[in-house]
Amino acid sequence: MKKNIRIQEPSQEMQQKIVRARMAIASQKERTIKCPYCFHNAITVYEDTRGHVEAKCKKCGRITVFNVLSMRRLRHHLSK
Ligand SMILES: [Zn+2]
Repeated sequence: MKKNIRIQEPSQEMQQKIVRARMAIASQKERTIKCPYCFHNAITVYEDTRGHVEAKCKKCGRITVFNVLSMRRLRHHLSK
């Protein structure tokens, strides 16, 4: 099965933003949030990620909205 996805090079401005974003996260800790349905790693967030993010699980296809800050607190609680 072949999907027809058109891929094009991002604009010069966009490429700059991609490079800058990569540099910005290089020194940050990354954390993966697991899909609550299948426990596959659904999304990666960084230290400066705040608020809500929507992620579609690559494995089961479910879309979940996560509140990154509340997940962080929860994890902190559990690990200590
Ligand atoms: Zn899933």
